[in-house]
Amino acid sequence: MSKFWSPIVSRLKPYVPGEQPSMANLVKLNTNESPYGPSEKALEAIRAAASDDMRLYPDPVALGLRQAIGERCGVSADEVFVGNGSDEVLAHAFAALLKHDQPLLYPDISYSFYPTYAGLFGIHAVEVPLNDAFRIDIADYRRPAGAIILPNPNAPTGIGMPLAEIERLVAEHPDQPVVIDEAYIDFGGESAVALVPKYENLLVVQTFSKSRALAGLRVGFAIGQRPLIEALERVKDSFNSYPLGRAAQAGAIAAIRDTDWFEEARGKIIATRAELIRELEMRGFEVLPSQANFVFARHPDHAGQTLAAKLRERAVIVRHFAKPRIEDFLRITIGTDAECARLITALDEIV
Ligand SMILES: *Cc1c(COP(=O)(O)O)cnc(C)c1O
Repeated sequence: MSKFWSPIVSRLKPYVPGEQPSMANLVKLNTNESPYGPSEKALEAIRAAASDDMRLYPDPVALGLRQAIGERCGVSADEVFVGNGSDEVLAHAFAALLKHDQPLLYPDISYSFYPTYAGLFGIHAVEVPLNDAFRIDIADYRRPAGAIILPNPNAPTGIGMPLAEIERLVAEHPDQPVVIDEAYIDFGGESAVALVPKYENLLVVQTFSKSRALAGLRVGFAIGQRPLIEALERVKDSFNSYPLGRAAQAGAIAAIRDTDWFEEARGKIIATRAELIRELEMRGFEVLPSQANFVFARHPDHAGQTLAAKLRERAVIVRHFAKPRIEDFLRITIGTDAECARLITALDEIV
């Protein structure tokens, strides 16, 4: 606290990202990064961007990148908005689309940045509880709402919703913006991008950080019909006209076009996930069904906090949330096969 702070700063509850520790021989399974390096073509494009042109501002509207994303997703560049990580895209969506007289709805167990953004922008939010199976039940969203946001698959549960359910939710709220945060969609879910031509209230947000292994580049995007995209553009141009640098635009264009790298990397992660779930279940863990690049698991005889601490002593870092209902769960990122084997070896010493 300081007398120099504005009142809103004193009241903020900033998001706490997973830590980035620098320990030797660490198995880092705590922030859902890819265990594989990004597309070599993306890295080449980033290196090539490191030229004298860096003295020039980047394209403020990132047209080339929006075209490349549009081609990939089957929409026009006009229906694509890009930002400095999907966190920034989400922040602009909160400011541009999610603040209304009626409350914003999101799940009680979900991405913990949502309450932070709601606080930052002074948005009245209502947390809608997941059901007993830790699933989102769209019937629970039939209540007064100004807007809705939810991740699909949800985080940190990893549970995905069928596209038909997402469509029903969007169709049941024709007068409210519905934002679907698809940070993990490429690991087995069905994207709602296909619904964008049909629903003017739908905004789909994706990121290069997880399935494209470019968390360090900071690129995310949204897809929606023009009025929603225009709202994001208006906020962006009232905040930072050049959110994506030259290297980020060039790297992301090459990454989205490298479908061979993408299919191979996600295939490996999906295969490792199946194997890790089997190993965890053999050891008595309950593992929620995951369509993400992480699993959410608990052991009936071991508290989540203790397990996380004991794994840390063995240089294996996973994410634990000290939150009611999920305090005994660990969120474990899918690593390489070797990393997952080290996790299992460590668990065998503990449980
Ligand atoms: C990781 C994540 C994001 C944001 O990722 P960026 O790196 O900012 O693109 C958004 N939503 C969810 C649910 C996430 O897990």
